[in-house]
Amino acid sequence: MSLLTQIFGSRNQRLLKQYQKTVRAISALEPQIEKLSDEQLQAKTAEFKARVAKGETLDDLLVEAFAVCREGAKRVLKMRHFDVQMIGGMVLHYGKIAEMGTGEGKTLMATLPVYLNALSGKGVHVITVNDYLAQRDADSMGRLYGWLGLTTGVNLSQLDHDTKQRAYASDITYGTNNEFGFDYLRDNMVFEAGERVQRVLNFAVVDEVDSILIDEARTPLIISGQAENHTELYYKINELPAMLTLQVGEETPDGKGKIEVPGDYTKDEKAHTVLLTEAGHEKAEQVLTEMGLLPEGASLYDSANITLIHHLYAALRAHALYFKDQHYVVQNDEIIIVDEFTGRLMTGRRWSEGLHQAVEAKEGVRIQNENQTLASITFQNYFRMYSKLSGMTGTADTEAYEFQEIYGLETVVIPPNRPSQRKDRQDQVYKTSAEKYNAMLIDIRDCYERGQPVLVGTTSIENSEMLSGILAKANLPHNVLNAKQHAREAEIIAQAGRPKMITIATNMAGRGTDIVLGGNVEKQVQLIDESVSLSETDKAAQSHTVRDEWQSLHDHVVGAGGLHIVGTERHESRRVDNQLRGRSGRQGDPGSSRFYLCLDDALLRIFAGDRVRAIMDRLKMPEGEPIEAGIVSRSIETAQRKVEARNFDIRKQLLEYDDVANDQRKVIYSQRNELLETTDISELIASLRGSVFADVVRTHVPAESVEEQWDIAALESNLADEWSLNVPLAGALKEDSNLNDEDILERVQAAAEAAYAAKIAIVGKESFGGFERNVMLQSVDSHWREHLAALDHLRQGIHLRGYAQKNPKQEYKREAFELFSGMLDEIKLEVTRQIMTVRIQTREEIDAAEAAIAATHPQVANVNYQHSEFNPASAPEDLFAPSSSPVAPASLVGDDANTYDGVKVARNDPCPCGSGKKFKACHGKLA
Ligand code: ADP
Repeated sequence: MSLLTQIFGSRNQRLLKQYQKTVRAISALEPQIEKLSDEQLQAKTAEFKARVAKGETLDDLLVEAFAVCREGAKRVLKMRHFDVQMIGGMVLHYGKIAEMGTGEGKTLMATLPVYLNALSGKGVHVITVNDYLAQRDADSMGRLYGWLGLTTGVNLSQLDHDTKQRAYASDITYGTNNEFGFDYLRDNMVFEAGERVQRVLNFAVVDEVDSILIDEARTPLIISGQAENHTELYYKINELPAMLTLQVGEETPDGKGKIEVPGDYTKDEKAHTVLLTEAGHEKAEQVLTEMGLLPEGASLYDSANITLIHHLYAALRAHALYFKDQHYVVQNDEIIIVDEFTGRLMTGRRWSEGLHQAVEAKEGVRIQNENQTLASITFQNYFRMYSKLSGMTGTADTEAYEFQEIYGLETVVIPPNRPSQRKDRQDQVYKTSAEKYNAMLIDIRDCYERGQPVLVGTTSIENSEMLSGILAKANLPHNVLNAKQHAREAEIIAQAGRPKMITIATNMAGRGTDIVLGGNVEKQVQLIDESVSLSETDKAAQSHTVRDEWQSLHDHVVGAGGLHIVGTERHESRRVDNQLRGRSGRQGDPGSSRFYLCLDDALLRIFAGDRVRAIMDRLKMPEGEPIEAGIVSRSIETAQRKVEARNFDIRKQLLEYDDVANDQRKVIYSQRNELLETTDISELIASLRGSVFADVVRTHVPAESVEEQWDIAALESNLADEWSLNVPLAGALKEDSNLNDEDILERVQAAAEAAYAAKIAIVGKESFGGFERNVMLQSVDSHWREHLAALDHLRQGIHLRGYAQKNPKQEYKREAFELFSGMLDEIKLEVTRQIMTVRIQTREEIDAAEAAIAATHPQVANVNYQHSEFNPASAPEDLFAPSSSPVAPASLVGDDANTYDGVKVARNDPCPCGSGKKFKACHGKLA
């Protein structure tokens, strides 16, 4: 502890002290509030709401509202918020993260800030990790809110539109992060303001905030649909590769080296990438210009031509790197990928980034449309939109820096209600996995025989199943949970604290359910209470018996040492290890934990194996003997820190790239919402028109120029050809030679306005307005979708610029901005053109035109929702899995660091490239 901390106390201590004071003020109200009748207590909600409406702040109301909420919970839920829950409630209200151990009662704690903030009427969202927990918490805590006069809704996936809208209109809405995020995206794809389901994003309490804002934040939410047709382009570009030559290395005469023979492109078969040389680049530009695909004098690297270069690279890779009957086969007019390692046909799988279409073009089979992103957002950017954000979890402290850095959220560690008595034992490290599992089995059997429950945590479903096999062989009865059926698993985990229970679970399984020593008795009591066939006396008697039975089981388990946790492997993140440990020792219960490791574990093998092995050798450890030493634990912790830092970087990069799109998304979405909400958009249309015609005129008649510089004939014909606008400018000039450039502009604008007014006169303002709105929405949406694809291509292609010594991120930002402003100009032009040139004689015609445009909107019903779930239960290797896109030479996800040319290599083996170095120091080097 630093000297300053010793003198002033840490910030955490100071905050706690401050909140403690408020808790005393809340508790001081208790005697007086206790005396209120139910009706009087319930009337407080309306009183508070009225005071908020009169201008009192929520902060002003905190003490009273917390006191009322606590009293309500006492009467409705038969639970009185502990003081530490009061403190946690304040932490949440002030927009921070409350770290509070498992089983300390976060669900109840959240009711305090939720009640207080719901008084504003702006809506409070409580975010859970799965639908089951959303429903469970909404049901149980909803009783309290309902009693206090507030409404609670549950936002589940698969709800119909009206139910969803009602859930959002409630004072309090429970639901999962995915559902809230997708609703946001969907709300920005609708065509009528009334179709939207969300209100403003006001206040969110995120449960298991580390899982949601950290683990799941590694992949964005994506809504995708069928893309536009580029068939022609694929066929045309397909001709190009044949005209380009490969640059190859030739042996030098002395056989000692290679000299490069110049060519148009190079290829790297391992990375599956190609790269155009300077000469190749020029040649490609020339050919594309001849084909009419590239405007005269334009460069392939102009931002306008991003799609083109993307297609070109896809075609080049299709020809240079992918071979028929090796990488794919052609069957029934389709390209089917062949798994390189197993030789199996991967029917239905498609290469991404246009590669599949390029191969289809090469083989002359039918080109299938690619899947296009319609909308996407990262969790980071979704949650940062809330006016106030807060979170709770048992494990936030190790990630406090990231919460602060990315979300501006401070973490406050709340002390337990009663100090934990859990004993965390030193890790045991074995040389081989056989020895490790043997030791684990002895430990588990010992617990079983003494009647102590055990929870065995694994990092993957495969490990769970393997372990289950070992226990079955040893005749030890057990349950296995894989985080597949949340509701059923919650029931099993609720009973995992009974004597002799052995439960194997991946880290995700049974989350959010608390393990009570002796098992959970509340459910049984509740069933008895709700039974219609029993009399009140019978109910009381039966409940009594059940509770007595539970008490004896509970005492037995406490005597046996509480819940014992067995860790089968260290996870790459310390946080996940802490989550596992945290399941034992709830509310002052006894308990213990031990991790069993071996040198074959992925984490040790990759990051700490050599060191630990050296220590073991030095200590001359005999067979079967574990090493249990601080130095080993420290090595492992260092390894974990390394991986954590790497993962942080990945998330930060994703965010840095998404930030660019995010700013642009905000502009587009707010424009869209304005379109939906404004009843009369004619003013907006007029301003677009004014700007477009100013540009048209200024091309031929520059500002402050004289007549000699004008090209009136060209202007006249342009107006007629492109805009169906006949303006007799030459004639006007003949009549009045004093007209200046401003007068010309004015005349054109007046003519445009008159042409517009004529249309309105035919079909009426209302009909035309509907048409205009649809034209505009359609244009904004289709350009935005194309823009998203362009950004995607840009992000992947930007690494090619690295070769030109440019900072890819800077370049990306600059070009993305250019693309965006180009897009806005195009929207302006397209909308004005459609509105000016639409030919209409009757009202029916305009309605038909409107319907035709509406038909081109993508149907939200036909789209896919994706969020590649990040599974913290996965082994560390999964982190380095190759990215789905083979085009990305340095995609956002790291390259596969454990394989060489697709073959798995142990990190300490010599590198297969023949360098003589160890793999981990050569091709297996981590970025
Ligand atoms: P966490 O989410 O923090 O792991 P839970 O919210 O699941 O914990 O609560 C754990 C258990 O503690 C639940 O059974 C809950 O009913 C109980 N509990 C929470 N707060 C209190 C309280 N103030 N008084 C009595 N029981 C409580």
